[in-house]
Amino acid sequence: MNQIEQQLEHFNIRPTAMRMLVYQFIEQQQKAVSLSVIEDYFEKADRTTLYRTMKTFEEKAVVHQIDDGTGVTKYALCAPGCVCAIESDLHLHFHCTVCSATTCLTEHKIPKIKVPSGYLAENINLVVKGICDQCNLR
Ligand SMILES: [Zn+2]
Ligand SMILES: [Zn+2]
Ligand SMILES: [Zn+2]
Repeated sequence: MNQIEQQLEHFNIRPTAMRMLVYQFIEQQQKAVSLSVIEDYFEKADRTTLYRTMKTFEEKAVVHQIDDGTGVTKYALCAPGCVCAIESDLHLHFHCTVCSATTCLTEHKIPKIKVPSGYLAENINLVVKGICDQCNLR
């Protein structure tokens, strides 16, 4: 059994060939990817299958969604043990205005945010915009 197969089994996901390829592709990226980037890469694959694969990954906390303000939802792999909980797992994201890469700042957790009583927070999205380390070197 290869490593990706094990990973997917660990998430209780049946490791189909397509799921393994998509997982590998996302893992290799140094930044968050949109569904259309995945579709372009797997141009011969059925779009519905790709969409469902991402939905499954999301439901099982393999990946999390990122809204970086560009209007295109992006996905990135979750850190090991992540359950995408507001209190423990949500972190900052960085969107580079030069190369438009969006990356996870996993070490930078979102500070506790207290909402008024009667309100229920379900998701928090904090995006820092600026110039990434790669672009800053140029
Ligand atoms: Zn997560
Ligand atoms: Zn950049
Ligand atoms: Zn992230």
